[in-house]
Parts: sequence; C-alpha cells; structure tokens
Amino acid sequence: TKGAAMVTAVASRVQAQRKQIDKVLALFRLTREQLVGIRDKMRVELEYGLKRDTHPLATVKMLPTYVCGMPDGTEKGKFLALDLGGTNFRVLLVKIRSGRRSVRMYNKIFTIPLEIMQGTGEELFDHIVQCIADFLDYMGLKGAQLPLGFTFSFPCRQASIDKGTLIEWTKGFKATDCEGEDVVDMLREAIKRRNEFDLDIVAVVNDTVGTMMTCGYEDRNCEVGLIAGTGSNMCYMEEMRNIELVEGDEGKMCINTEWGGFGDNGCLDDIRTQYDKEVDEGSLNPGKQRYEKMTSGMYLGEIVRQILIDLTKQGLLFRGRISERLRTRGIFETKFLSQIESDRLALLQVRKILQQLGLDSTCEDSIVVKEVCGAVSRRAAELYGAGLAAVVEKRREDQGFEHLKITVGVDGTLYKLHPHFSRILQETVKELAPRCDVTFMLSEDGSGKGAALITAVAKRLQQARRE
Ligand code: BGC
Ligand code: MG
Repeated sequence: TKGAAMVTAVASRVQAQRKQIDKVLALFRLTREQLVGIRDKMRVELEYGLKRDTHPLATVKMLPTYVCGMPDGTEKGKFLALDLGGTNFRVLLVKIRSGRRSVRMYNKIFTIPLEIMQGTGEELFDHIVQCIADFLDYMGLKGAQLPLGFTFSFPCRQASIDKGTLIEWTKGFKATDCEGEDVVDMLREAIKRRNEFDLDIVAVVNDTVGTMMTCGYEDRNCEVGLIAGTGSNMCYMEEMRNIELVEGDEGKMCINTEWGGFGDNGCLDDIRTQYDKEVDEGSLNPGKQRYEKMTSGMYLGEIVRQILIDLTKQGLLFRGRISERLRTRGIFETKFLSQIESDRLALLQVRKILQQLGLDSTCEDSIVVKEVCGAVSRRAAELYGAGLAAVVEKRREDQGFEHLKITVGVDGTLYKLHPHFSRILQETVKELAPRCDVTFMLSEDGSGKGAALITAVAKRLQQARRE
C-alpha cells in the first residue's frame, strides 16, 4: 500500500543519512596501527630536535630550559609570579616555607582584551605591568622589591634561566614587535617606563615546566610536565649527554619539547581531515602548530564547528540551514564540549546549549552533535597518549630499564574539565607504552606555583654562588 511504501522510503532515507554521518565520524577514528605509527614518528622528531645538525629544522623544537634540578625543600621566601598564555592572565604572590614544604598563594585574575593580545608589544607589556601595579596595591605591597618568576607559555629560546627569546606566538596572541625579542627585557623595560617599582626578574619558565616542578615538589618521580588546555605541550627531564645544544654531559636538564608543532613538516597528513585543514587555515598561524590544532582546547570546538557546517550543508543537521551563529568562529568553547559530553539527562542539556548558541535543533540533531564532540575529543586524547608514550618509552630506554615508574604532572582545562579526556589519554599510554608505569598527578595551580618554586631554586643557587 501507499502508506507502507512511504514508511519504507523514510526509513531508507534515515539509513542513508546515518551512513553519511558515520562516514564523517570514521575519519576521526584511529586504529591501533595508526597510533603506534604516530608514537614512532613523535620519537623520531624528539631525537631530531635534540641533535645539533637537525635541530634548526626540527618541528618539535626541543628547547633547553636551564632548569636542572627539582626543589629540595630548603627553598623559602616571598615571590611574585606572572602567568601569561593560558585561559587567564594572573599575578600571584607565593610564600614558600622551607622544611614543611608548604606553599601559600594569593592571586588575582586579569583579562587581556583582544585588542591588547593583538596590538603592539609595548602595549601588551605596559598592560602587564599595570596589572602588577594593581596587584601590589591590592596586596598592600607597594614598593616591595620581590623576586619574580614569569610563566610565559609560548616557545622561547633560552640561554639561561632568566633570558627567553620569543620564537613565535601561538594560540590567540599576535602582538607585534615581540618575536625575536627577549621577553624578560621587554618586561624590564615596561617596568622602567612606569617608573613606580622595581622587581628582580629571576626566571622565565614555560607552563609545562612550572607544572612539572610543582608536582616534583611532592613526588620525586615526576619527570614530565603536560599541559592539555588552551594549548598543547609537554616537557621532561632529559640526560645532558643527549642534549647536543648544551655543553656538558653530566646530570639532566628539562627540555620544553613544544610538541604542538609536531606535523608541521607534513608527517601527520595521512590522518589530518579536511576539517583540520579548515581550522588551520582560519587560524592566526596557518601551517603552524598542527598537532596542537588537533588536540587542544582552543581548537577542538572549531573542528566540531567545521564538521557541523559540513553536515548541515549535506542536509544532515539543523534542517539543512546554516545559521549566522554557526558561521561564527570560536562559538564552541571547550567548556561547551565538556558539558555536551557530560550530558546523561536525555540530551536536555545538549539541546539547551545548542539553543544558547542560537542553533535550532531537533532531538536527532543533538544526538549527532554529541557524537561529533565525542569523536573529536577522543581523537585528541589518543593523539596525546601516543605522544606521551613516545617520551616515557624514550626515558625507559635511555636509562636501560626493563620497567620504568614515572610520574607526569598535568594541568589544563581540557584535562581537568572534560569528562573522558583524561581516561582515554591514560588508557592510550598504557596500551602504547606497556613497559612504563605512568602515574598522572594533577597539578594544583602548576604554572604559578611552579614559577615561584623555580625562582626560589634559582635564587638559592645565585646566593650559593656568591658565598
Ligand atoms: C605553547 C607552549 C605552551 C602550550 C600550553 C602552546 O601553544 O607553544 O609553549 O606550553 O601552548 O600552554
Ligand atoms: Mg650535552
């Protein structure tokens, strides 16, 4: 009959649509062989960056940090710390008491307006110093002369612990006249321009390094620092004999890998999708930080948005209508991704979020959106796991151990807020580095506290040299 024929037609249309959606989702599924391949490629790039001959062209930059030891518990004093480059800009006062390994912190969050992030370098650093002034005022510390540690979460070439030349901006920053300049000098000059207080800038550190330090303060096995947040990066303790760029063969030094640039030579092209390419092309730094763009909070929502646009164009979502909102860059923050994937209440929350985003959705739509988010974040966690497996395996082999017990200090909004990311990351590392026993330690406020600890260690060493 006619009715039955119609039902069959609808059913087969639904089936065909499902097939099309599955085809898109399948692009994000990585097989075990693919993940093993990614781990092995990461390993190659790590070695490449450490060797003098290949270092200049390496996409994983492997930057020496001049951080050579962990805090020993004798550090003490009051320190200022700055934390620039994550979700928030913060100024902190950190009080470290020796012996009991206790740390007290006071901090204030400041926003950096977009026009300052993308204005001139002078404006950016004047703004930073303005925030420091506000903070000192607020804490009743006006005129105090404190040692300062600067957590600056961008790739810097360092020749000592208190010098760092910005190689290039990443994430949302694009201030002019900073690349190729020493950020400590820029901060000093801005302080001089203001001519209101004096600070003793002792250390500039990457957020990964601060995170590793904070966890290392409590756990001696912590030799890796990982950030899964707005950006993506990892640092670890490497044998000096393997670091060809730095004189000396004794002991270890922390290397800031800047693994976000993994894939910039095309070595991940076989797994990058058209959506990844679109996100890259629409970013502030096209062609750069390809691994970061597949794994970090700043970009995952953008990948999701690109997929949703495509599915809508194919008539598979939102009744085929692409709204203005959906065309707007940056609407899908990591926070939404986490909320969407946390939803178990019959997708009510998903629909509410989509509604807030101005996307008029049916119940079927919200199921698909949730699946898309899941596919994108799962791939990100697996890629992180493959990268991390390369590093811990390298540490195990370099030390000639059958088995390695190692702790990874972790921070970042993606790791902390997402309902599945950390679990998938951990499972992947276990699978791809079976001879390593990896403990993950959440760093409470790693970048701020870590900068203070590193500053304290540097101060202690400075004083020891003088005596
Ligand atoms: C930066 C790294 C930083 C990471 C996490 C990346 O974009 O290049 O230096 O550690 O973000 O904040
Ligand atoms: Mg050496």
